[in-house]
This record gives sequence, C-alpha cells and structure tokens, in this order.
Amino acid sequence: MYPDLAGKTVLITGGATGIGKAIALRMAREKARVAINYLDEKQPYRQVVQEIQSLGGEGLAIQGDVTKEQDVRNLVHHTVDHFGSLDVMVNNAGIENEVPSENLSLEDWNKVLSVNLTGAFLGAREAIRHMLQHQIKGCIINMSSVHERIPWPHFVHYAASKGGMKLLTETLALEFAPRGIRINAIGPGAIDTPINAEKFADPQQKQAVTELIPMGEIGQPEQIAAVAAWLASDEASYVTGITLFADGGMTLYPSFQAGRG
Ligand code: NAD
Repeated sequence: MYPDLAGKTVLITGGATGIGKAIALRMAREKARVAINYLDEKQPYRQVVQEIQSLGGEGLAIQGDVTKEQDVRNLVHHTVDHFGSLDVMVNNAGIENEVPSENLSLEDWNKVLSVNLTGAFLGAREAIRHMLQHQIKGCIINMSSVHERIPWPHFVHYAASKGGMKLLTETLALEFAPRGIRINAIGPGAIDTPINAEKFADPQQKQAVTELIPMGEIGQPEQIAAVAAWLASDEASYVTGITLFADGGMTLYPSFQAGRG
C-alpha cells in the first residue's frame, strides 16, 4: 500500500475491463478517487464503479472515445469537475488485430495507431495542461507493451503504436521533468484479459504463448496494476521516462535459455 495515493485523483482510459479495471480497483484500495473512461454501453463500467464503491472508494465512469480530441478534453474536465483535481492519468485504452502486413488496410493501420498512440498523446496532453495550470506534480502512465521492444509479425500496426509510445513517453518525460511531472510507461507481457480471450481459450495457442515466458505463466491484470500503483506513488518519485516491463521475462530473449545460442 502507498499512503500518499490516498485522496489523489486517478483517471484511467479503457478502465472498465482488463488491466484498466484492475488498476481502477487497485487505486480504490489505495483510497484514491477513481474515474474510469469507457468506450460504449457494452463495457461493464457500472459494475466497476460498484466494485470501487464496495471497496470504500469513490468512483466515476465517463464515456469517451480516446481518438476524439473533444472526448479526451471532456474526460479530464469531467474528472476535475467531479473530484476537483487530476493527479494521475493512465493512458491504458488499446486495441489490436492480427493481419499479415501485406494485407493490412490503411483503415486498420489508422485505427490502431489512433487508439493506442494518438489516444495516449491526447490523454497525456490534456492531463499535462491541467497539471501545469494548477502546478500539480502529477504522474502519467502509458500502457505500452513488450512489443515496444519485440517485433511482432502480423501486428505491425500494434508494434509501431507501442514503439511510438516509448518515445512519446521519453520525450514528454524529458520535456516536463523540470515541472515535476513524471511520465512513465508499463510494458506488460502476455496478460489474461479480454484482449487475449479468444487466443487463450484455445489451449494450444495459450501453451504457445506460455512457452515464450521464462517464468512459465501468463500474467494477471493485478500484477500490472501493482506496477501502476508503485509508479504513481511517491516511492517512484525519482523515476521518469522509463518503461517498466512486467512480463515474466518475455523481453529476455527466452530462446537463448539453457545455454542455447
Ligand atoms: P482490454 O481489451 O480489456 O482493454 C482495452 C480497453 O480499451 C477496453 O476497455 C476497450 O473498451 C478500451 N478501448 C478500445 N478502444 C477505445 C477507444 N477508442 N476509446 C476508449 N477506450 C477504448 O485489454 P487489456 O489487455 O486490458 O488492454 C489494456 C492495455 O494493455 C492496452 O493498451 C493493451 O495494448 C495493453 N497490453 C495488454 C497486454 C495483454 O496481454 N493483455 C499486453 C501488453 C499490453
């Protein structure tokens, strides 16, 4: 637990499912005030707000599409109107789809880049504007991936978006370090969330992914939420511009294990 998170306001994009939901619940346990963004009525956002409340926390759900500038402005404004401030912005919304690159349409390319990278830029920019205006030494967390480092055939748009997120994070971190705003990324490995539901429902595909993980198991969203809580806390007060990989060793070139190579 990180006592300094109590009373802080946290906004999480794509916060009704998977990693975003786990961060929301972790932040509620930390006694932070939690705003979750959801894309549409299909998302179980009401349930997440109820869970936040049942943990004794304050929760708010705000509809919005992170690819739309006005929606992202509204996310920050609504959060600040409701809770009075914004201290931690988590740019978590993300999508992926598998397509061999020679068949990848410009539409699919643009869609993934818009949600994963442009959405994070808009979220970071709006949060930074608020933090600068109110001299808040806030924190921004971008949900990257091991694929900011590991190339991923059939997912070139996804890998490019997360590669872009690395330098988005580093550049903003450098730019706003003198103002006390810390900007970091998290690089999850393979985590058991809706984004992977179809793949992990197939035992063979799940096994194939597990074999890429030196620790031998798929990660849980709560393990990523633990990293987010630490990054947001004062325990990480001297940390900015990093991607903290939480991947069971996936980025360690597992094919070299046992002396191979
Ligand atoms: P998820 O599908 O549960 O979460 C993605 C969320 O983003 C959903 O709630 C979805 O509604 C939301 N979203 C999609 N488009 C949006 C838009 N235009 N506007 C607002 N919200 C939108 O899957 P997840 O695994 O929890 O993914 C969260 C983040 O973690 C993503 O950025 C993903 O790339 C990243 N990630 C996941 C894994 C993994 O293995 N699960 C690994 C590395 C990185």
